[in-house]
Amino acid sequence: MKKEKAVVVFSGGQDSTTCLFWALKQFAEVEAVTFDYNQRHRLEIEVASSIAEELGIPHTVLDMSLLNQLAPNALTRSDIVIEHKEGELPSTFVDGRNLLFLSFAAVLAKQKGARHLVTGVCETDFSGYPDCRDIFIKSLNVTLNLAMDYQFVIHTPLMWLNKAETWKLADELGALEFVRMKTLTCYNGVIADGCGECPACKLRKRGLEQYMAEKKGAIG
Ligand code: ZN
Repeated sequence: MKKEKAVVVFSGGQDSTTCLFWALKQFAEVEAVTFDYNQRHRLEIEVASSIAEELGIPHTVLDMSLLNQLAPNALTRSDIVIEHKEGELPSTFVDGRNLLFLSFAAVLAKQKGARHLVTGVCETDFSGYPDCRDIFIKSLNVTLNLAMDYQFVIHTPLMWLNKAETWKLADELGALEFVRMKTLTCYNGVIADGCGECPACKLRKRGLEQYMAEKKGAIG
C-alpha cells in the first residue's frame, strides 16, 4: 500500500490521531478530514487543524452542521447531559453519524484520488454505537463501492483493540507522547490528560495506566 493515498477521518482525539500515525506508516500520501457539526467544544476543530499542520498533512474541514439540526445530542448541546444508562445508547450517540461522515469522506477521497479510508472506530470498548461495529463498516464499504463504482478500502486499525492496546499501538508508532500531550478526547474540552472526570477521560486514563503497567512489567 506504500504507493497509495489515504484519507483519515480525523477528530483530533486519541483514536483518530493514532490512526493518522498508522496511516503515515502505511501510505505514500495521507490527507485528513474533520467534520464540523457544531461540537460543544470548538477547540476540537482547532486541535485537529494544528495537529495536521504540525505533521504536514493536508486537512479539509467539512461543514456538517445539518447533523446537529437533525439530531441534537450531548456532544453538541451543553444542556444535554453526557450519560450512559444501562441497556441504552449513550446520550452522545448521533443517529447516522458514522454513516454520513464516512460517506462524505469517501466522496472527498475519490475527488482526491485516494481509495483508502481510515477511521478509528472500535467495537471493543462497548460504546454501544451501532455504526462503530465491524459488520457495519464492511457493509458500508460494499455500499460505497457500488454507489461510486470505485474500489474503496475502509481500514479500521483500532477495531479490535482496547484502550490499553491503542496506547500500545501509538507507542509502537513512536507517537505515544505526541498523542498523550496534543490530542483532545475529553468531553469537557481539556487537552492532553483531560478533566479526569468525564467518561472519555476515565476510559483514556484507565487504558494508559494499564498499558504503562504492562510495559513496566515487561521491562522490569
Ligand atoms: Zn474529561
